[in-house]
Amino acid sequence: MAKAVGILGGTFDPIHNGHLRSALEILEEFDLDHVRLVLSARPPHRDQPFASEEQRLEMLYLAVKNHSKIVVDDRELKREGPSYSVDTLKSLRDELSDTTLYLILGSDAFNHLSSWYEWQQLLKLSHIVVMQRPGEPLAVREDMKVWYEEHLGSAKHRALSSGKIWPVKLTQLNISATFIRDDISKGVSPIFLMPDPVMRLIEEQSLYQ
Ligand code: ATP
Repeated sequence: MAKAVGILGGTFDPIHNGHLRSALEILEEFDLDHVRLVLSARPPHRDQPFASEEQRLEMLYLAVKNHSKIVVDDRELKREGPSYSVDTLKSLRDELSDTTLYLILGSDAFNHLSSWYEWQQLLKLSHIVVMQRPGEPLAVREDMKVWYEEHLGSAKHRALSSGKIWPVKLTQLNISATFIRDDISKGVSPIFLMPDPVMRLIEEQSLYQ
C-alpha cells in the first residue's frame, strides 16, 4: 500500500497543544505514516512572526522529541522568497514518490484559501484535510463554493491519492499562539497549553515579553 503523509504548515509562534493534538488525531484517523510540521519562514498572508526562525524551529524539535510519528520539516527555511504551500507540496511530491499527501489546514486558514498563491493547484498535488477550529466555523468563500462542492471527499474516495477535501471534527482545543503570546506578555503562564520543554525555552529566552 502507498504511504500516506500529513503536512501541517504554520508559523508555530509558538507551537502549542492545539497543533500537536490535532496532528495526532489526524494521523490516526487517516492512518498516516507520519505528520510533518512544516515551519513557515516568511508567511505571505500574515504579519511576520515574533520569534526568530531558529527559535521557532528549536521549539518544534522540543515539542516532538518523544513522538516518532510527528516530525519537523524545515524545507521552507531553505528557500528564498515567500513560503508558498504549493512549492512545498511540489518539493514533497518530488521527494516522496508513491506517497499520498494530506495538506492539513485549520478552518481559519481554509476559509481564506482562495487568496493563496496557485490555490487550485494544491488539490492536484495532495488532499486537503480541514480541521474545525473552535470559534472559526467553516465558511467557504463565494469564489471557492463550486470548487469545494466538486472536491468534497466521501468514503468511496478514500483510496484516491489526491484531489479531495476532508473536513474533520477533532477534539476542540481553543488554544491559539496569539492568546499564548498575549498571556505571556501579561505575565500569565502558558502551562498545560504547550509541552513543558517548549514553555521552559520560552522562559529561558524571555520570549514574547
Ligand atoms: P496565531 O494565533 O499566531 O495565528 P495559530 O495558533 O493559529 O497562530 P499557526 O502556526 O498559525 O498557529 O497554525 C498552523 C495551523 O494550525 C493553521 O492551519 C491553524 O489553523 C491550525 N491550528 C492552530 N491552532 C489550532 C487549534 N487549536 N486547533 C486546530 N487547528 C489549529
